Amino acid sequence: METALIRDPEIHALLIEDDDVDRERLVRMLRRTAHSIRVQEAPSKSEALTELHEKKVLFSFVFLDFQLEDGDGRDLLPDIWESIGPDCVVVAVTGNGSDTSAAEAIKLGIHEYLSKLDLTSDRVAQTIDEGLKWRQMREDVRRTEETLRHRSLHDPLTDLHNRHVFLDRLDHNCMQVRRDHHPFAVLMIDLDRFKEVNDQFGHAAGDRLLIDVAGRLRANVREVDTVARLGGDEFAILLEDVHSADAALMLGRKLVGLLERPYAGDQGVMRIGASVGVALCPVHGTDPSLLLRRADNAMYRAKRGIEKVQIHDHLGSDNDNQPDSILLLGEIEQALETRQFTWFWQPKVHLRDGRLLGFEALARWPHPVHGMIPPDRFIGALEQSPLLPRFTAVSIDCVLAQLAEVAPLIGDATVSINISARMLESPPFVDDLLAAVKRHGVAPARVMLELTETALLGNPVQAARVVERLAEAGIALAIDDFGAGFTSFSTLRDFRVKEIKIDKSYILTLGDSRFDRSLVRSLVVFCDSLDINLLAEGVETETCRQTLIELGCNHGQGFGLCRPLPFEAVPGWVRDRGPLTP
Ligand code: C2E
Ligand code: CA
Ligand code: CA
Repeated sequence: METALIRDPEIHALLIEDDDVDRERLVRMLRRTAHSIRVQEAPSKSEALTELHEKKVLFSFVFLDFQLEDGDGRDLLPDIWESIGPDCVVVAVTGNGSDTSAAEAIKLGIHEYLSKLDLTSDRVAQTIDEGLKWRQMREDVRRTEETLRHRSLHDPLTDLHNRHVFLDRLDHNCMQVRRDHHPFAVLMIDLDRFKEVNDQFGHAAGDRLLIDVAGRLRANVREVDTVARLGGDEFAILLEDVHSADAALMLGRKLVGLLERPYAGDQGVMRIGASVGVALCPVHGTDPSLLLRRADNAMYRAKRGIEKVQIHDHLGSDNDNQPDSILLLGEIEQALETRQFTWFWQPKVHLRDGRLLGFEALARWPHPVHGMIPPDRFIGALEQSPLLPRFTAVSIDCVLAQLAEVAPLIGDATVSINISARMLESPPFVDDLLAAVKRHGVAPARVMLELTETALLGNPVQAARVVERLAEAGIALAIDDFGAGFTSFSTLRDFRVKEIKIDKSYILTLGDSRFDRSLVRSLVVFCDSLDINLLAEGVETETCRQTLIELGCNHGQGFGLCRPLPFEAVPGWVRDRGPLTP
C-alpha cells in the first residue's frame, strides 16, 4: 500500500485517566513509540472538559478511561467529537478486560480498546501506528472525494463546466422562468475547421487550441453565465437576463469574432471559425430539450450559411412537435409484446488468475430491419416513457430464465442486471423482483443489481428502503459507472454496497492519467476498509490489466477480457476457456 504515514512533527494526545500510576505508565509507553507525542494529562472529567473546550488543541488521539472519579468517561464522547472532529482516534483504556466492553466500545464509535491488564509498549505503539494510518486514509478519501466532485462537474481538458452541469442549469432555469419570467438565452457553439487543425498540427495542438477557446469564451461572458464544453469541439453557453434577440445576437457575433482571431501554436499560427445557434427562453420555448434542439438547428443553419450566428426561426419548420422518440416508443412497445429483446452476457473476471466472478446482462434489440440495436439507442427513450416498468420486468424475467438455465454450469458466479434509477420509485418493484426470483427457482445470492449513484442520491430515503429490502432478501447491490456522476463516498458507506464498478472513462485513460491512477488507488484502500469488491470496467488491453493489478484492483470486465456474449454462447465459453488474459 502506498499510503505514507503522516509523520506529524508532533502528535497531540489527550490522556483522560484518574489513576496516577496508570496514567504515568501510559505516558511512558507513549514516549517510547517512534513518534514524537505531546501528551496532555487530564485526571478527571472536569479537567478533560476544560482541555477540550477551552484550550482548543487539536488532539489526534484521546485515551479514555471509562471509570473516572467524577463520573463515566463515556459521557465525554460527544464533547470529544464536537470539539476535535470525527478524525480524532479515541482509544478506550479500562481496567476490566471483558469482550463485552470491547464490543460496546466499538459500538460507541471508539477506535480501539486497550485493557489495562495486558498493556504493553508494543501494543500502544501499534495503536498509534494504526490510528495514524486510519487518519491518513480518511484524509486520502476526502481528497479524492473533492477531486472527484470537481471532475464530475468539469470538463477535464478545459476545466469548463461539462454537459452534466449545463443540462442541470438549463433544467433549473426553465423551471424558474415559469415562475418569475426571468428570460435567458441558450447558445450552441461549434468550431469550424477544427478537424483540420487536428489533422495538420496533431492532437496536442488541437487540445491546446480548445483550452484557448475555453479561455476566450469564459473571459467574455459574465460570472453568472454558464459556459460548458459539451464534447469534442462543441461548446454551449447559458446567458442569463437576455431580454431581446438583438442582445443575444450581438454577443454571439462578438464571440465569433474573438474565436476567429489567430491562435499561437508551437508549429505556427492556427485559425478556426465558429458557428453559433441561439434560442431564447421563454420566447422559443420553456422545455429544455426543445430549446436545445432549436439552438442546435439554428447552429446548423449557421454552419451552412455565411451569417455565422443564427437565431431560432419561428416560421421555419423543424418538426419540433414530432420527436422521433415517439415513433421509436411505438416500436419498443411492440418489441416488448413480441419479446424481441434479448440479453447478452459479459463475464467479470479476477484479473490475476482469470477466475470467473460473474456476468453482467446487457440488453440487445435484434431488430428485424435495423439489425442488432445496442441499448444506448433505446434505453434513454425508454427511461423517459411509461414503458420503463414493463421493460424492467421483461429484463428481469428474461435474465433470470437465462440464469436458471446455466446455473449448474457457472458455479457460484453471479449475474448482474442493470436497473434504471426511476425504478426505485416504483412501489411494486421489489415485490415483483422477489416474486420473479422465486418463480425461476434461482438463488437470490446469484443475483446482483446494478444501479448508478445518482439513483441512490435522487431519492435517498426511498432508495434506502429498497436497498434494505434487497439486502434482506440476499440480493446484492453494485454501483455502476462510479465516478461518472456526482460522487460521494458517504453514500456508499450508508447503503450496503457489494461492488463498485469504476466507470470505463477512467479505466480507458488509466495509462495517461495520474488522476485516474490515484483514484483507483484510493478506491482500493476505501473498498478494502469497507469490504466492498472493486471492479474496473473497460479493461481493453493487457497493459491496463497489469496496471490495475499493480494498483490493487483485482476485478475486471472489458473487451480485452471478453466481449459481451450472445447468451447461447455462454455455456460453450465457460467450458472452453483456458487461462483468461487479454
Ligand atoms: P453499462 O452498464 O456501463 O454497461 C457496460 C457497457 O460497456 C456495455 O455496453 C458493454 O458492452 C460496454 N463495454 C464492456 N467492456 C468494454 C470495453 O472494454 N470497452 C468499451 N469501450 N466498452 C465496453 P452496452 O451493452 O452497449 O450497454 C450500454 C449501457 O446500456 C449500459 O452501460 C447500461 O447503462 C445500459 N443497459 C444495458 N442493458 C440494460 C438493461 O437491461 N436495463 C437497463 N436499464 N439499462 C441497460
Ligand atoms: Ca452496468
Ligand atoms: Ca457501467
